[in-house]
Amino acid sequence: VMSVIQRAEETAIPFDLEFRTAIPNTPERWIAVRGQFKRGPQGQLLRRMGTMIDITGRKLAEQKLWESEEDFRRLVENTSAVIWQADIDTWVFSYVGPQAVKLLGYPLEQWYDKDFWISHLHPDDRERAVSICLTMRKSAQEFDFEYRMIGASGEVVWIHDIVNCQHHNGKPTQLRGLMLDITKRKQAEEALRGERAFLRQVIDTVPNFIFAKDRQGRFVLANQAVADAYGTTVENLIGKTDSDFNPHRDEVEFSRRIDAQVIETLQELAIPEEQITDAQGRVRWLQTMKRPIIGSDGSAKQVLGASTDITQRKQTEMQLQEQRTDLAHVARISTMGELAASLAHELNQPLTAILSNAQAALRFLSSKPADLEEVREILQDIVKDNSRAGEVIRRMRALVKKEALEFATLDLASLIRDVVALLHSDAILQNVNIALELDDNLPAVRGDKVQLQQVVLNLMLNAFDAMKDCPASERVVQLRLEDNGMGLIQGSVRDRGTGLSGDKLDKIFQPFYTTKGDGLGMGLSICRSIIEAHGGRLWVENNPDRGATFYFTVLMAPAREQNVSKSAAWINNNVT
Ligand code: ADP
Repeated sequence: VMSVIQRAEETAIPFDLEFRTAIPNTPERWIAVRGQFKRGPQGQLLRRMGTMIDITGRKLAEQKLWESEEDFRRLVENTSAVIWQADIDTWVFSYVGPQAVKLLGYPLEQWYDKDFWISHLHPDDRERAVSICLTMRKSAQEFDFEYRMIGASGEVVWIHDIVNCQHHNGKPTQLRGLMLDITKRKQAEEALRGERAFLRQVIDTVPNFIFAKDRQGRFVLANQAVADAYGTTVENLIGKTDSDFNPHRDEVEFSRRIDAQVIETLQELAIPEEQITDAQGRVRWLQTMKRPIIGSDGSAKQVLGASTDITQRKQTEMQLQEQRTDLAHVARISTMGELAASLAHELNQPLTAILSNAQAALRFLSSKPADLEEVREILQDIVKDNSRAGEVIRRMRALVKKEALEFATLDLASLIRDVVALLHSDAILQNVNIALELDDNLPAVRGDKVQLQQVVLNLMLNAFDAMKDCPASERVVQLRLEDNGMGLIQGSVRDRGTGLSGDKLDKIFQPFYTTKGDGLGMGLSICRSIIEAHGGRLWVENNPDRGATFYFTVLMAPAREQNVSKSAAWINNNVT
């Protein structure tokens, strides 16, 4: 400032000056001065005059601009993009940015050689890249394409080239473009593709079903196992739903319901057993795990599933179940064999009564005049005895018949009454008193009628046997039914027999364990497997005083079936 002022004083030429203030406790300000010093004819200083303007605002703006220009310059220098220009016909470069050296490793001069671009294209890409350039160079449009070039040390460099045609007087003259090195991106893409292909191979070798479906039930992913089951290809599955391949609507709907639940609750779900029909029409049993695929907004748009084919296991289970049913049937026949004598006796009574009633009726008919009133009464007795005999036979046949296991809603109290009726004569022959404590208002159970009857029959016959050596007056079997408060109905058969000494408690449920000369030893082991198939338990406890009590539990029927069974039980008890 001082030197400018000194010069202005000497020369008297107007001057411009910008300076900063330095006033304590005041922010720095920029001031612009335009001034002139007047001198007299003798050269003496007459006057100093000028204007001062505060230019702080302008100065700050200028400084900011300069800083951003600096940023831009640094950006251009450090970018790997190569700006180029080439002749429209010969494709000889007329300008190539300095970054080209780094791009391929050749000195910049070499880029200006004839055919540099074409001769350094990757052989596999040459034809395509040249043909794109040939078709596009005359158009007024910008175009971009990707290709590979070979660098100075033989390395492959991926380039994304954005090209523009320059026109002069309506004629194309120059090609201008920007080459970007995208080798790293391409390598990452390649690695990703490799990884995808590897994962694909893995999921396709897995024999389990792996799939993902969207909200509409369309496959977005499926492995070879799913495609094989539906007799199609993986590609063909994508975008289609189960109903395009499986004609069984209930199976498809079951699966859709589970999917909807998983999507809604965002909770994974294990489905222990589900069924699908494959392309050959075979039923396949699956054990499936489904999990929601949760998006960035926290909701699920897809379900991921993995199923294991458990058809083999299921078939074995079913065969085992059939064998158990067969065994139970054989055991029932054998039990009925034990009952043969008493059942014959049970039948004999009404038959004898029918015979003597018929004889009496004949007598009444032959007396003159015939006593028709007596005859009518006698005939009514014959009908009653006949239906008594019929009832015995019906009960016997029901137990002896061989039928597949069939679960239905049952009233245990009426089922027990049926068994007790069957044992009526046997109990009389063996001098056993049967005491029933049955509550008819108990909830219904779900089970197979014949098999549950078999359990009660077995436990009662065992109780009769255990009391063989008791004085006749003490032979009592007590049958009880109660709600155990845990969704199970509990039955008990209490006797006043021998009870079970320590080691017997463990052994009696084993197959072939018997202490009876003519026993099979299968009864209790079959009873236990029947009860377990009904979701319950069978066990025994010695009574505090004497004898033993066998307890069994059976799962209650679901609430919606309770009323149905009550009316069925009512019909059973009141109509038969
Ligand atoms: P089985 O009646 O053919 O012997 P079970 O399996 O029904 O076959 O019974 C096995 C054994 O358990 C019987 O032989 C008997 O020793 C014992 N047992 C069963 N029930 C009773 C009971 N109520 N009291 C005492 N012992 C019993």
